[in-house]
Amino acid sequence: MINKTENGRRNYFRVAEKIDIAVSYKEKNGGGPASIDGRVSNISPAGVSFFTHKPLPPLSQLKIEFKLPESYGNALSRAKVAWRDDHTSHYGAQFVLNEGARLLDLEKFLSELSHNTLSDRRNTQTDDQQIGRRTNEMDKAIEITSEERRRMFRRISDLWGLERGTRHKGQEIRRIKSFQRAKGLGYTYEAVQIQREWLGNHTGTSLRHIGILSQDPSQMQGNIENLIGVAQVPIGVAGPLKINGEHAQGQFFVPMATTEGALVYTYTQGMQLISLAGGANVYVLKDEINISPIFVFENAKASQRFVSWLESNFERIKGEAEKTTRHGKLSRIEPHIFDRSVVVKFCYTTGDAMGLNMINIATEQACKYIVSTVRPEEFYMRSNFSSVKKVSAHNYTVAGFGKMIIADVIVPRKLLKRLFDVSPEAMARYCHLSFVSSAHAGMVGMNGHSANGLTAIFIACGQDVANVVDSQVSVSACETTKSGDLYVSVKIPNLVVATVGGGVDLGTQRECLSILDCYGPGKAKKFAEVVAASVLAGEIAVAAAIVTGTFVDAHKKYGRKPNKMQIGRNA
Ligand code: NAP
Repeated sequence: MINKTENGRRNYFRVAEKIDIAVSYKEKNGGGPASIDGRVSNISPAGVSFFTHKPLPPLSQLKIEFKLPESYGNALSRAKVAWRDDHTSHYGAQFVLNEGARLLDLEKFLSELSHNTLSDRRNTQTDDQQIGRRTNEMDKAIEITSEERRRMFRRISDLWGLERGTRHKGQEIRRIKSFQRAKGLGYTYEAVQIQREWLGNHTGTSLRHIGILSQDPSQMQGNIENLIGVAQVPIGVAGPLKINGEHAQGQFFVPMATTEGALVYTYTQGMQLISLAGGANVYVLKDEINISPIFVFENAKASQRFVSWLESNFERIKGEAEKTTRHGKLSRIEPHIFDRSVVVKFCYTTGDAMGLNMINIATEQACKYIVSTVRPEEFYMRSNFSSVKKVSAHNYTVAGFGKMIIADVIVPRKLLKRLFDVSPEAMARYCHLSFVSSAHAGMVGMNGHSANGLTAIFIACGQDVANVVDSQVSVSACETTKSGDLYVSVKIPNLVVATVGGGVDLGTQRECLSILDCYGPGKAKKFAEVVAASVLAGEIAVAAAIVTGTFVDAHKKYGRKPNKMQIGRNA
């Protein structure tokens, strides 16, 4: 809670344990400082925002002070107003590092502040919601002394800048200094800010939006290198979507991050239709991920001997691989003899993780044993046969990669007519024409726009977005039923999703998974079912929009900014 405490003549507001703030101003008659009553609405390591009971006087008369325990050294005791809204008496102040203060003290303060404000933030959520946009503006640059800034800039320039190298044909060859050296900067607020500032200055660009962080950058270690901030992608919600899956059951509101207008609208239309039709049925048919090292021997005969050896030593190989992980289980190995080279697919289940890191580590361990025993002429950890983040006929038609999943629904004729003003026959006819066209185009997978929904959900929910490449290779089909209704299905053979590991623990990503109750262990199949049912919804809605001729209208209406539409109409 934010408690107000009395200290001498001034009111201090307790913004977090051990941290108090006072807002005061000089009275016009030249009297001593008068304090202003108020409450803190948000605090971040960059500053603080607060409401006061009346508008603040001009900046020149204002004084904002912090009272910090001595253990922070003399890093911080002042703040300056960064933005003001006199209409609502809502203000934002940036922390100001005291002249001569040590950066170490600032770091200590920031880390303690992040720690201390966690419980306060929960309690101030309503305020945060009220002030919306303005609270974010608090995450502005931390002011540091000019001497420190110069020192840090020199360090960054040194790490990122071009250095003088050798001369070649009279030309000086400059090279970029090793990336590895930049690692030393770490993931503190200060390191992120100073890198961003350096880049902004170097390129003459304002990076204000990139710099608005809502979480401690140290939590991004393992997800990103050379961190300068965050990308903000708008998140919309589509739904409700009723799902009758084996793991996902009930009604879901699906977060989608995109900048494509009309996308969330389209998916919402389809989800509502599915829900009124009784819900999407979803089944995970297979769940397996693989990596394919390649071994080279003297000739094809030797390759064959190697394959026999693999079969008789599977248990030992499995034991080696599983030494490195609690959740990765080597279910089988699948050799493919090409000639004197042999690709061996190591196929795993990986719990709720997507698993690529996990199986790389496990397979490397297994291969150490294999290579030291059979001694191939050549060995490479990856052959590209698994086609990770690539489209391959092998994965699409036969093997699958990740979760192989089906979603389907029967939409009653009357409902389809009422909601989309279209008949099952018209939908089936369009589906046929679309299939023929896709076949002529040589498309791998035949679907309307699965990549749209997948990408939006992947971005919102912290999935590795590059996996959309394989995940979108799906077949959407529709036909009329014997009773004259519409049957629609989607089969996705390569859905690669996770609820543990990778990017799912980051702030917005975790929140979006939590909206679906799909964050953490035991939720990967549930999440996969939600994703597949969402794809199904998008397929029905886009097909109906094309059949009824409303596709372009919807994109005109939702997919353009109002002023651009104005220009279009006038032209
Ligand atoms: P990870 O975060 O590297 O590993 C998952 C971690 O979660 C493991 O330490 C695992 O422990 C633990 N864990 C806890 N509970 C779990 C549960 N219920 N199910 C599964 N694991 C659980 O994630 P990853 O999925 O292996 O790798 C994904 C990342 O790899 C993504 O960021 C992706 O972009 C990246 N990636 C890597 C490659 C590559 O070739 N290395 C290629 C493409 C992408 P145990 O290990 O003890 O089981």
